[in-house]
Amino acid sequence: MTLAGATDTRSPSGGSAPLAGLAGEPWDVLVIGGGITGAGVAREAAMRGLRTVLVEARDLAWGTSSRSSRLVHGGLRYLEQGQLGLVRESLRERRVLLTIAPHLVRPMAFLLPVHRNARVPLWKVAAGMLLYDALALFRNVRVHRMLGKRALLRREPMLREKDLTGGAVYWDAQCDDARLVVATARAAMAHGAAVATWTEVTGFLHAGRRISGVQLRDRLTGETGTALAHTVINATGPWADQLRRMENPAVDPLLRPTRGSHVLVERGRIGHRGAITLASPVDGRVMFILPWDEQLSYVGTTDTDTDEPPESVAATEDDVVYLLRSVNALFPNAHLTEADVRATWSALRPLLAPGNGKAESARSREHLVAEGSGGMITVAGGKLTTYRVMAQDAVKAAVGALRERDGRPEPPEALTDLTPLPGGESAELGTIRGQGVELGLPLPTVRHLLRLYGTEAAAVFNLVREERFLSRAIHPGHPAIAAEVLHVARRELARTVEDVLMRRIRVAWETADGGAAAAAETAALLARELGWSAEETARRAGEYHPPGRSGAGYL
Ligand SMILES: Cc1cc2nc3c(=O)[nH]c(=O)nc-3n(C[C@H](O)[C@H](O)[C@H](O)COP(=O)(O)OP(=O)(O)OC[C@H]3O[C@@H](n4cnc5c(N)ncnc54)[C@H](O)[C@@H]3O)c2cc1C
Repeated sequence: MTLAGATDTRSPSGGSAPLAGLAGEPWDVLVIGGGITGAGVAREAAMRGLRTVLVEARDLAWGTSSRSSRLVHGGLRYLEQGQLGLVRESLRERRVLLTIAPHLVRPMAFLLPVHRNARVPLWKVAAGMLLYDALALFRNVRVHRMLGKRALLRREPMLREKDLTGGAVYWDAQCDDARLVVATARAAMAHGAAVATWTEVTGFLHAGRRISGVQLRDRLTGETGTALAHTVINATGPWADQLRRMENPAVDPLLRPTRGSHVLVERGRIGHRGAITLASPVDGRVMFILPWDEQLSYVGTTDTDTDEPPESVAATEDDVVYLLRSVNALFPNAHLTEADVRATWSALRPLLAPGNGKAESARSREHLVAEGSGGMITVAGGKLTTYRVMAQDAVKAAVGALRERDGRPEPPEALTDLTPLPGGESAELGTIRGQGVELGLPLPTVRHLLRLYGTEAAAVFNLVREERFLSRAIHPGHPAIAAEVLHVARRELARTVEDVLMRRIRVAWETADGGAAAAAETAALLARELGWSAEETARRAGEYHPPGRSGAGYL
């Protein structure tokens, strides 16, 4: 387990803390799950002044929240389904996230081409675009524009010209999903929450019929322990029903998840320039071709009913073929084959069970908060974009339960929409950039650091100032530097080589070998922070598996 925050008696750089750090006085709120929902709940609860702890079975964002399409968006798909309330709420949240985390959530122009006989004709796209802007109260980065065929081809010359009738350019946002979780969890810690990673809830403690705490297991050391809590919030995304069954084996499932897969390819192989929204020529579903980094693109997503366990979900061959065929139909010169796929990632959408018999992608993304027979509050459904709203609703339920329990007054509301996440104080970015340049770091490295850490890049620069050798690249094909490994271990709870390369600095996704060449050096740097022996360091480096075509690195 790694524990940092309010009750940590040592600095967050102090390595594994004993589970005893979570025992003692009952917590006001114990949050299970360190994805975007749990991190958001912990931030909301801590900012409302509640004694809060978050426990995550693996790493922050290990689950769905590092395997999304990385969009902060209203969702054209939901617009089509007439879920206007959800779209309006998401567009408001898009504006909030662009403001509080500008380094992680970036505006992006999307091109939506329309071909003759498309499922959604051009006039309908024009009406939808107008509605999309209207639901954002025309406060988007820019309003949409309709484009004729020539203008579309000027922007994307490799698009299929045959039958192209026109299209639209509109604005949404792309985000670094895993880093958004880390920043949100750190914001919770800054407001006094404790966060324990690699700490799994294995059972509940009871006072009468009510849950009064949890049993814990440290997944890195095998150590076990307990923590007491006045309220427990289940924010485990696609694992939510597993936890609910732990509370009451007879309970009906809240979720009916679907699998969504992505493929990562070199951008040059597709030949597109910017983000593309398309109706898949295979089945008409809305999907995306999205740029990532300077050289890469990913394509997603699929939407398939499945009952596979969330921890072992991986892209199937059918998923990959479907995605590649969809791209090839729109970019006829691409001729993508499976050999072009650098990596895949897949996850389960924690969708609420429908009961309405519609096709899976027509299911509601809205969330709900439900209290179980033992008093556990489950927050389920939703999406990355709307995590703040989910967190508010879940904490409201916890505040109600605490009030009922001991009559305490309602704590003040939290200004989560106005308070920047760590690194998000955009006014200072120019000064920080200057510091990196003065230090003599290569410009791609400065750009990379600002993109990942925002103003907190200053802390990485400080490490370099103290020890010059920390400015060296940890992988020959990537601008990431050694100082970052120390930074993410000290401040961002990274504890394994995979935590670092996959979810903190993204070397795993942005290099041709999936970060393999950086594994030994990353382990050596982590060893310095975490006190690993030479033997453990070698073992940890060997445990790193790059994400492959089967997404195996995630299993
Ligand atoms: C393919 C795909 C694409 C998506 N794209 C987008 C998008 O572009 N934009 C958008 O807004 N939304 C998107 N979503 C939805 C969004 O990603 C999810 O709604 C969101 O990430 C769910 O977050 P979560 O925190 O609820 O769950 P998770 O991120 O899955 O977190 C749950 C956590 O609970 C932990 N856990 C489980 N059991 C235990 C236990 N016993 N003890 C302790 N911890 C435990 C897990 O390890 C996990 O880390 C997408 C979803 C999918 C599947």
